[in-house]
Amino acid sequence: MRSAGRIVAEVHAHLRELVQPGVTTADLDAAADGIIRRYGATPVFVGYPNAKEGGPPFPATICASINEELVHGIPSRRRVLNSGDVVSIDVGVLYKGYVGDSGWTYPVGQVNGEAQRLLEATEGSLWAGIAQARADRRFIDVTRAVQEYAESRGFAVVREYTSHGVGRKMHEEPQILNYVPERSEAARIYPAMNRKLAPGMTFALEPMVNAGTWRTELQNDQWTVSTADGRLSAHFEHTIAITGGEAEVLTRL
Ligand code: MG
Ligand code: MG
Repeated sequence: MRSAGRIVAEVHAHLRELVQPGVTTADLDAAADGIIRRYGATPVFVGYPNAKEGGPPFPATICASINEELVHGIPSRRRVLNSGDVVSIDVGVLYKGYVGDSGWTYPVGQVNGEAQRLLEATEGSLWAGIAQARADRRFIDVTRAVQEYAESRGFAVVREYTSHGVGRKMHEEPQILNYVPERSEAARIYPAMNRKLAPGMTFALEPMVNAGTWRTELQNDQWTVSTADGRLSAHFEHTIAITGGEAEVLTRL
């Protein structure tokens, strides 16, 4: 998983340089695909089954989601980045049987103050969660740290998409909420939330944070998820491993 994570980190390091006004999300997709294959790895998003019955599988290597789109945006030659946009890029690879999964939201050219604050709050909420991701803490401690960081800065954490276990597959148990549910809801849906973390567990922590409402809607392409109110969203994700001390971040260079 360290090796898979390093490849993902290398892809992001390269894409970070490519994100400029005038670049299309298809350009970013092609660049990422080339790097992944040069390492002898396989992109895991392409062909990923749609959550909706009958929906199309994901058609590209990366997810590229612009502004009010939060996750699962489909790269396209028609989607050109403009100064002032933010673009969320998610990268997942399979290498020697293990998955690395990491997403970052990048500013394009000059972005406004709200966008800057949103990026800081979202990345900060990820690191606040990682700081709690230690053996003998509980999943709910990670969740609470993520939510408190984002909400204390005036933003809303997306509820309809979650963080997750990762290993041989991209999405493994458990689902890890990025917000603390009502007690009754937690007991009903996510009994895993009170479990303790233990060394050797590996997760993809990925808060999605919105400038306005936490509610989202699925676009007609059956993949792209946007904010319900059209305001900005950001997404930061790292694959991490629980150790005897601080979590090891596997998708950081
Ligand atoms: Mg991801
Ligand atoms: Mg993920």
